[in-house]
Amino acid sequence: QPELSGDFSAIMEWADAARRMKVRANAETPADARTARAFGAEGIGLCRTEHMFFDEARILAMREMILSDTQQERRAALAKLLPMQRADFVELFEIMAGLPVTIRLLDPPLHEFLPKTEEEIGEVAAAMGVDAERLRARTEELHEFNPMLGHRGCRLAVSYPEIAEMQARAIFEAALDAAKRTGAPVVPEIMVPLVGMAAELSFVKGLIEKVAKTVLEEAGAQIDYLVGTMIELPRAALSAGEIAGEAEFFSFGTNDLTQTTFGISRDDAARFLETYRKKGIIEADPFVSLDVEGVGTLVRMAAQQGRARRQGLKLGICGEHGGDPASIAFCEAVGLDYVSCSPFRVPIARLAAAQAACRTQAL
Ligand code: PEP
Ligand code: MG
Repeated sequence: QPELSGDFSAIMEWADAARRMKVRANAETPADARTARAFGAEGIGLCRTEHMFFDEARILAMREMILSDTQQERRAALAKLLPMQRADFVELFEIMAGLPVTIRLLDPPLHEFLPKTEEEIGEVAAAMGVDAERLRARTEELHEFNPMLGHRGCRLAVSYPEIAEMQARAIFEAALDAAKRTGAPVVPEIMVPLVGMAAELSFVKGLIEKVAKTVLEEAGAQIDYLVGTMIELPRAALSAGEIAGEAEFFSFGTNDLTQTTFGISRDDAARFLETYRKKGIIEADPFVSLDVEGVGTLVRMAAQQGRARRQGLKLGICGEHGGDPASIAFCEAVGLDYVSCSPFRVPIARLAAAQAACRTQAL
C-alpha cells in the first residue's frame, strides 16, 4: 500500500488548508480505491463500471446478455451479474467509508465485450445452448463502423433499460448493505454517460428512480442518492441549462469532450498532435492539458448555464485533465467543486488545487 512520507504529508496538509476544490480519484478496483485514500482522495469521482465485466467469471454472462435475442433472456443473464456487481460496490463503499462515490453506468459500445475468436463464440454458444453460426451472425450484426460515436453511453440504457436497471439495483442494494456494515451513511452518486439531450437523461433517471423505489420498498429503508451526468459532448455543454433541470451534478468528461470538440480521435491523435506541436500549430496536447479556448469555453458555458438553472449544482471533472496542474488551475477559475484523477495523481492535484486557490485569492 503506497503511503506519503512524514514531511511530504505535512506539505500536503498545508496545501489542503489552502485549497477550495475537493480532490477525488477515478477508481473502480478495491486496490485503486485504497491507493486513492492513502494519497488523500476525498471520494471517488468516477467509477468506470465497464472494467468490472471483463473479469473471467463475468465475461461469459456479459456475452450471453449481449447476444441474447429477447429482453427476457438478457434479464436472465443480467441476474447472474447482479450479485457480483453488488459485491463490487459494497467493497468500494466500505473502503470509501462515507466519502462520496460516483458510479457511472455502463459506457462503452457493447461490441467491446463480444467474443472475438471461434473458440470464444463456441463457448458462449454452448453456455446459451444455441447454434454457433447464429451467434457469429449476431456478433457481426453488432459491428459498428464508428463505435465511439455509436451505440454507447446512455444510448445503451435507452435501447436496453435492463442493463441500467441491474446496475441501479446493485448500487442501491450495495449502499444499504455498506451503510449497515459500517454505520456510515452512503449517498451514491449515479452518473449517466454520454448524454447529449436532456430527454436522454430524463429517460435514464426515470429508470433509476423506479428501481430505487422498488429496492427501498423491499428493504423498508430510506436512502439519499444523486443522479447526474457526464458533460462530454458539445451538445450537452450547449444545452447545459436544460440538462441541469434533470441533473443533480455535472462531471466534465474532458477526454470525450476534447475528442468531440476537436473531432480528433482520442485513441489515434498522439502521433499527429506531436507533429502539430513541433510545427507550432498547438502548444500542448489538448488530451493532456485542457484546451482553454475551445473545450474550456464549453466547460465554462456549461458550468454557468447549469448553475443558472440549478443553484448549487455540483460540478466536477473526471477526464484526464483532472490530474493536470494547468487544467486544474482552469477548473479553479471556473468554480468547479472538485477534480477527479487517477489515484497516483491525487497528491499532485492536491498541490495544484492549492496553488490555483492561492493565485485566485492573490488576484
Ligand atoms: C471522459 O470522457 O473524459 C471520461 C472521463 O470518460 P472515459 O474516459 O471513460 O470515456
Ligand atoms: Mg467519456
